[in-house]
Amino acid sequence: MTYFDDFEIKNEIKKAIKEMGFEEPSPVQEKAIPVILKGDDVIGQAQTGTGKTAAFGIPLINRITTDSHVQSVILTPTRELAIQVSGELQKLSKHLNIRTLPIYGGQSIGHQIKALKQGVQIVIGTPGRLQDHLRRRTLKLDRVSTVVLDEADEMLDMGFVDDIEAILKQVNVDRQTLLFSATMPQAIRKLSNRYMVKPVTVSINKSEITAPSIDQVYYKVLERNKQESLCRILDSQDPELGILFCRTKKGVAELTEALQARGYLVDGLHGDLTQPQRDAVMKKFRESSIDFLVATDVAARGIDVQNISHVINFDIPQDPESYVHRIGRTGRAGRTGQAITLVTPREMKHLRSIEAEIKMQIPSKTVPSIEEVVEKQQDSWKNLIVEQFTDEQELSLFDDLAAELLSDYDAKDVVRSLMKLNFSASIGENDPGYNFGETGGAKGMTRFFINVGRNVEMSPKVLIDEISAAVGIPGKAIGRIDIFERFTFVEVPEEVAPFVYEALRYSRINGARVNLEPAKPRPKRPQTNRSSHSSK
Ligand code: ADP
Ligand code: MG
Repeated sequence: MTYFDDFEIKNEIKKAIKEMGFEEPSPVQEKAIPVILKGDDVIGQAQTGTGKTAAFGIPLINRITTDSHVQSVILTPTRELAIQVSGELQKLSKHLNIRTLPIYGGQSIGHQIKALKQGVQIVIGTPGRLQDHLRRRTLKLDRVSTVVLDEADEMLDMGFVDDIEAILKQVNVDRQTLLFSATMPQAIRKLSNRYMVKPVTVSINKSEITAPSIDQVYYKVLERNKQESLCRILDSQDPELGILFCRTKKGVAELTEALQARGYLVDGLHGDLTQPQRDAVMKKFRESSIDFLVATDVAARGIDVQNISHVINFDIPQDPESYVHRIGRTGRAGRTGQAITLVTPREMKHLRSIEAEIKMQIPSKTVPSIEEVVEKQQDSWKNLIVEQFTDEQELSLFDDLAAELLSDYDAKDVVRSLMKLNFSASIGENDPGYNFGETGGAKGMTRFFINVGRNVEMSPKVLIDEISAAVGIPGKAIGRIDIFERFTFVEVPEEVAPFVYEALRYSRINGARVNLEPAKPRPKRPQTNRSSHSSK
């Protein structure tokens, strides 16, 4: 166990760390800080949200002297990150007389030149704008002690590699070079081979990342009423501040619109927004004037907002890394966070593969019923109603109607009816679900027709495995199975029938494409023993 006090750093920095509320170094800080203090070049790899900024920031600040020339330059992919890093370094150096300056495109260059002239020791900037200043000779990097490439993978993704190389070439060679990144693609290795001297690699592997302070859960939902299910989950949880992840830009737009229509305070973030639009959305989110941000993975990159109580995967992430990345945005700084994943029947196998990679089983919950939501919302509805009492002027418009209703009807009926009118939008319609009609199944069972049979080596075991994997019901809950040469009938409990339907429609069994339809009821005919099979 290492404590910040164990590091050989200035007392002023230790004091600042305490004031920032950091209790102990994060794993990447614990590993990287001593090596950087020794003066080695360091490559640090750890996921987003693991404290990489302070990992390089603390030793970097420790080296800065009171000389008023640029002693450190930090390259970041976006202006948002430049501002964040600058803020974090300012806090760390609060008790030292150190000046930091973020410089990025979009801000007046004249203003930046003036600030640079006043003498700053640490410059944080995007590669493009740093290059600008180097060309104008308003920035000199010939007496630098530390260079940092922060979020290097993102900078490369954004096509900054030439700018980065051009900048590194202008820095005095006798410097320390640090590179931090969430991932380590080959291009980063190449860059480090060229511009770093015997770099020491510090990496935090995935199993150390899934912070135990994040509560994870998944909900099985139907594709058909995913939005409805989401609303019920949100209403039953009352998240303070959440990010909702969608797979595509279009998904972001649709979900944002649907939630806004239902009265939730949300806004969307996706790759097509201009920088000012993006800034405006982020500002609303940071100030909590919206409760939810709907975003794609790409759009959410580099967002660092504290107090995110919920990360909700409206669409399940593509791969385990992205899952870990997404959920790492909540539960920061030791607070507990909630990570919720919506999983449709077709995505169950995908969820299992994520679980296998992250080496943990994510517990599941069922989508709350309308009754549970109403129960949960009672207090907030009561408050809403009572708050109106103060608006005497507008309420008085309804005096006559109120008197009439109360003299003609029971007060309880009047109130219930008004509540239904007002709040049913927020609890949604009754489950649209599926209505399979009469399918000829046993009581309480829905019978499905599947368009393949023994011709694809269908067997009761194959079918039972397929259904229980997708729907998570035990094999013995599955009813009668009749397998014929070219088709199959199977009966499943009514309550899981919609899940079976979505899971097996247009799926594959033994490699063959299959379709499944609700069966048509038919008069009972005797079955031949050879072609039928009933599961127990
Ligand atoms: P990364 O660059 O790895 O994505 P950041 O450096 O942005 O992560 O840190 C994420 C958040 O965690 C920041 O708000 C930071 O202030 C906080 N943080 C960093 N180190 C610690 C620590 N040792 N204890 C508590 N919070 C920390
Ligand atoms: Mg970072």
